[in-house]
Amino acid sequence: MPTIARLETFVVSQALQRRFHFSQWHYDRRTVCLVRVTTDDGRYGWGEGYGPADGVRAGIGFLAPLLVGSDPLQTGMLWQHMHRRSLDFARRGGLFAALSAIDVALWDLKGKILGVPVHVLLGGKRRDAVQVYATGLYFDEEPGLQDRLATEAAGYVAQGFRAVKMKVGLGVATDAAHVCAVRAAIGADVKLMIDSNHAFSLREALELVRRVEGQELSWFEEPLSPDDYEGYRELRSRSSIPIAAGECEYGVAGFHQLFSARAVDIAQPDLCACGGLTEGQRIAALARAHFVDVTPHCWGTGIGFAAGLHFISTVDMTPGRLRMPEPFLEMDRTENALRDELTYPRFIQKDGMVTVPDAPGLGIEIDTGRLNQFLVTTS
Ligand code: CA
Repeated sequence: MPTIARLETFVVSQALQRRFHFSQWHYDRRTVCLVRVTTDDGRYGWGEGYGPADGVRAGIGFLAPLLVGSDPLQTGMLWQHMHRRSLDFARRGGLFAALSAIDVALWDLKGKILGVPVHVLLGGKRRDAVQVYATGLYFDEEPGLQDRLATEAAGYVAQGFRAVKMKVGLGVATDAAHVCAVRAAIGADVKLMIDSNHAFSLREALELVRRVEGQELSWFEEPLSPDDYEGYRELRSRSSIPIAAGECEYGVAGFHQLFSARAVDIAQPDLCACGGLTEGQRIAALARAHFVDVTPHCWGTGIGFAAGLHFISTVDMTPGRLRMPEPFLEMDRTENALRDELTYPRFIQKDGMVTVPDAPGLGIEIDTGRLNQFLVTTS
């Protein structure tokens, strides 16, 4: 049986042609830390961490020696080992994302060793294609933003998307006007979601809900600070719009806090931060026990997207029924060459769906030529 020989990190970065922002800060480049776990017989798996790349890289540097020489198939045991050694310092944040990156790489590697796709390892897919929604509609500084948002949203619908998520967080009146313009542009049949990235107080969030209640929104994402569990509970009880959050939450214990507060209708773990596929399965089980839907957050490279695809392809919806609603996966559409060019085959959206890969592991490969072009540091 092969053993783990080494873990290598690759920080990749790409400057954006067009700078954009959301409620918290500007983006002018995308930077991600990848990890490759290689066995003594030359097989390997890829993972990535969600969050500041240098922090993830440092975390992987701390965790890597714990794994060298181990059996890569023992993903649950390796997870426990990493978790026990990091728990005192990393119940949330970069070190947890590093653990997640390694865990995703181990599942990729395990699938390749056993010759089966990750969705089989997770228990089997219940859908061959996953419903995706377009994430875009960020802000810029130029005049005419509202018209550009409407045009961009209509473009996603023309590409086949049946659901679109837009940013809010510029101020309640401006946001409400943007929501109405986007809804008018996409028509009544396309789902529309809003995401403030925790920009609002409870009163502001309630005011925005009141103003956009007639716009048939499918969810209001991260309306409040991720620490404001009581605020979430109150907002959810007073809002006719479903409440979503979880991309800032870590581990099954973190999600337990979210669910026991009855804070959300929809949980959004990022598999490259929440604890990887190992912990993602536990979070999905906990969500099921609380009758909360799961829709993975996904904002990195094709590795993270592939992990999200395999994961959500296996997740059941509750309560069961003959005509079951389908879970969503986030499909970021902002400028991101790391997402589009680093991995192959490319993920193709058609009629709002993306096919789940059936090749072993995550079902993707890294374009090493592009990797070297994007590479900033390796270790
Ligand atoms: Ca978000």
